Amino acid sequence: MTHRHHIAAAAPAASQATTGPAVAPAPLRARPLRIAVVGGSLTGPVLALLLLQAGLDHVTVYEANPDLPTATGGILSLEHPALDVLDRLGIPQHEYVQFGFETITQFRGYGPADDRFVQRQYPGRFTTWTLLHQALARRLPAGLVHAGRRVTGISADHRRPMLHFADGRREAADLVAFCDGRASIGRRLLDPGRRLHYAGYVAHRGTATIRPGDLGDFQRWEPRPGLQFNIAPVPAGSDWIFALNATTEQYTTWFGAPPEQRTFVLPHHVSPAARAHVDAYAATHLPAHLADLVHATTTRMAVPVMDIDLPTTMAWPVGDGHAVLLGDALAPVRAHTARGANNGIEQADGLVTALRQHTRHGADLPGALLGWRRRHLLTALAAVRQGPIIADRLGLGTTRDLATAVVG
Ligand SMILES: Cc1cc2nc3c(=O)[nH]c(=O)nc-3n(C[C@H](O)[C@H](O)[C@H](O)COP(=O)(O)OP(=O)(O)OC[C@H]3O[C@@H](n4cnc5c(N)ncnc54)[C@H](O)[C@@H]3O)c2cc1C
Repeated sequence: MTHRHHIAAAAPAASQATTGPAVAPAPLRARPLRIAVVGGSLTGPVLALLLLQAGLDHVTVYEANPDLPTATGGILSLEHPALDVLDRLGIPQHEYVQFGFETITQFRGYGPADDRFVQRQYPGRFTTWTLLHQALARRLPAGLVHAGRRVTGISADHRRPMLHFADGRREAADLVAFCDGRASIGRRLLDPGRRLHYAGYVAHRGTATIRPGDLGDFQRWEPRPGLQFNIAPVPAGSDWIFALNATTEQYTTWFGAPPEQRTFVLPHHVSPAARAHVDAYAATHLPAHLADLVHATTTRMAVPVMDIDLPTTMAWPVGDGHAVLLGDALAPVRAHTARGANNGIEQADGLVTALRQHTRHGADLPGALLGWRRRHLLTALAAVRQGPIIADRLGLGTTRDLATAVVG
């Protein structure tokens, strides 16, 4: 018997409606909902903590990286809804926001005069991947995260979703939440037609141990079309991102593999040629103090800017269970949209709302997941579409027409 049948059968007659409860008491599940979260970076841990807070405590997080706690990452922006989710998880803001600015200062060398030097309000705060990941990870109960467990497949065994791992093991769940990032195995398995496309430019990144004296907020330098340099204060000094056009051939030469294959460039992949290219652009186009700062940054990384074919759904039935995609696994977005971490956190919050209605009040689970999709898919689509529009204005990358893709 489905939950929907249960509610219909137990609904009070019209004459009783004024005295009795309006909704039938929650039907008890035969056994607790078992939830597997794939990915332990940001979206995954937020989801796991929200699930625990909602009393859904049969949660396991599977993370491919055996050593994620030692990883580091740079600046991320969080809007008020995401900050509010972290508040509700009891994480004090000062733990992950160390510079409380709420502005972006833009220096542009072209275009309308009133856009040349502007300070814009940002509706949120800035953190770093490292600070936020650590704040989340230290709140996850011991034993909940299974590190070094790479998911390679999913099947329906005895009508339940079954995860397959690179180490040959298998784990069953009722709901699998893929939060496994831009190269998601979940997306490739559940939605194989959707591909990543290189957008024609690279976000070169670095964390400098120097912090310029005038760096009080997020600065954006756009001296001419075709490049954008962002820099912001972080605990170690300052974090910068230099977006520069590059052909697929250049990318492959600099980083050892094409963008679709090497979706994240680690320091040891950055060749001297890539470094020299970034330094030369900095020397030619940035003020001397920023060019010197770039030159002095020893540890470099890079991310190829990628677009994803538009998602049309977020949840799939697997046997009698379900699998869902969240965060970058659903749709990575371009950094200019400042939506990356926000999408994942908001989707995780919405998913737990839907699941709570199911477990507490007997709401039909496929229906609750449909409602979740309706609320969050449009926001994800808007961010995917917004990326190329912003980049076009900046003269970055090659144009692809995402607006014509059909959404069911
Ligand atoms: C170490 C690190 C540093 C980052 N630094 C920055 C940064 O400086 N700026 C920025 O804008 N974004 C950064 N990001 C990306 C950023 O976190 C995301 O763009 C965004 O916040 C959404 O997060 P996510 O949790 O959905 O995806 P991600 O942060 O991409 O996390 C996905 C996680 O899933 C794991 N995973 C992948 N495949 C599997 C699999 N098959 N089985 C199990 N686990 C799997 C990955 O190891 C990773 O931990 C970083 C991500 C990582 C992992």
